[in-house]
Amino acid sequence: MLTLSGRGIYGGIVMGRLFFHRRQRLPAAKKLSIQDTAYEIERFWGAQTQAVSQMKEIYQSAIPTMGQKNAMIFHAHRLILEDTDFTNTVTRIICDEKVNAEYAVRKACRIFSRTFEAMEDPYMRARSSDVQDISDRLIHILTNRPVHVELPHYPVILAAEDLSPSETVHLDKEKVLALVTAGGSPLSHTAILAKNMDIPAVIGVGKQLQAIYDGAVAIVNGFQGEIFLDPDAHTISTMMEKKQTFLQKRQELDEQIGKESITLDGQKIQILANIGNASHLNSALRADADGIGLFRSEFLYLESHQFPSEEQQLEAYRSVLEPMSPRKVIIRTLDVGADKQASYFHLPHEQNPAMGYRAIRICLTQPEIFHTQLRALYRASVYGNLGILFPMITSLEEIAAIKEQVAQVQQELEQENIPFHRDIELGIMIETPAAALISDQLAKEVDFFSIGTNDLTQYLLAIDRQNPLLEHFYQPHHLAVLRTIELVTKNAHKSGIWVGICGELGGDLSLTETFLAMGIDELSVSSSLVLPLRKKVRETNVKKIRKKTLSNLPPLPCPPR
Ligand code: PEP
Ligand code: MG
Repeated sequence: MLTLSGRGIYGGIVMGRLFFHRRQRLPAAKKLSIQDTAYEIERFWGAQTQAVSQMKEIYQSAIPTMGQKNAMIFHAHRLILEDTDFTNTVTRIICDEKVNAEYAVRKACRIFSRTFEAMEDPYMRARSSDVQDISDRLIHILTNRPVHVELPHYPVILAAEDLSPSETVHLDKEKVLALVTAGGSPLSHTAILAKNMDIPAVIGVGKQLQAIYDGAVAIVNGFQGEIFLDPDAHTISTMMEKKQTFLQKRQELDEQIGKESITLDGQKIQILANIGNASHLNSALRADADGIGLFRSEFLYLESHQFPSEEQQLEAYRSVLEPMSPRKVIIRTLDVGADKQASYFHLPHEQNPAMGYRAIRICLTQPEIFHTQLRALYRASVYGNLGILFPMITSLEEIAAIKEQVAQVQQELEQENIPFHRDIELGIMIETPAAALISDQLAKEVDFFSIGTNDLTQYLLAIDRQNPLLEHFYQPHHLAVLRTIELVTKNAHKSGIWVGICGELGGDLSLTETFLAMGIDELSVSSSLVLPLRKKVRETNVKKIRKKTLSNLPPLPCPPR
């Protein structure tokens, strides 16, 4: 038996066969004759930019697990991608031969690969296979291949170096017993999705997790972050006992189904579920969530290899609104950028993607994308109880610009005699310090606030939520975060609007009492946390807690690691 350890990010104990996912080798890029060389060059630069930012991210997340020296391989990939000899060769091939970018990339990579192969230095010779990887990556991006993980026909424990959010959202939940990755950070969207999908997960296992274990029988303990390969009889029986205890506790929680989320002294709170797509809805329904508090609509875009049409979006929204009706469904408009990348957006290469061109900034500068989504949302409004949430807001001007777009969409639909509900609730994410600080003004303009503690913590503390090196510093219990939540809640209530938390902190049971004392109206969490939270709420007496003001609270203990 071999024991590997990492960071357990979502509980559950499962036993099964390990399936090691390797990204597929692509078939040779077809040579196509083209007229518009400028367009092909632009496509190449878009792909190169995206590949560079992917390599940066992979490099950063690899350091803690592989060590700086081993992780340098990813840095080397980036240097090749940025090398002017390489980029000039690609663009020259496009211009001289009047061919498509995919073919030019493949050809340039072949030239470079041969040059490396011919070198005497063994280190440089080894770079030849790196060029092959780079070529695959660029062509993947250029061909807009939706990245699918090909799973066997039986359920497996899926192991991988790392998974992107778009790979994760595609996973067939029925076939994945657990997720285990060498890299990754707990606040990445891949980790959040695993929780939303109710899949036990262990990340950051490091280089101990090797493809040679493919096919091995394993037990994953998502609570403790353990993976037992080829487990012995004693481990199997201990783990199965633990699993039974866990399942029993889970079953006991079913007592909470159908009950109201109300404290002992009569304070009510709504507990809703976060989902990434319609396939996550069943877990929310099973957990008796009071609604969907955050539907991350960007996953619709990440699942696709081109912009989803108005009709496709309408169907997707309807498929959540109808089964949830009359319960509320809050759909957040497109929040791509940073770790959520779709190649066809051709997002620019940025020094600081988390603070870059993302979310509402894309929507307001590319109104055609926003317009299609707003039309689909308003059309979907007749199928249930819809609220729309706008991400990454920093100013009143952005809200004014959003309202202009909304008014235009409403006018169009009216002229086209398409039914819609005009008075649906419009809310904003409070996830930037700017929005929190002017929340008194913003509250006058919208119907609700949803506090995004994942980003709010990142921006308040100036700590990248994606960087595993900084995990220890990323402290959502920081007093600055809690005081900000308190301030936002007060400002919301002064203007008579409701306020919820949809970031991961909302599901932190050690803070439920604090949030109740602040007067938070709604918590939106992974489906598996709905019933534990309800239980916690029903056992709480808020009057007793309220006596302690937040400002007097000592810094709270760190969340368990
Ligand atoms: C957040 O930032 O807290 C949030 C809920 O949004 P996301 O995690 O998708 O950025
Ligand atoms: Mg966010």
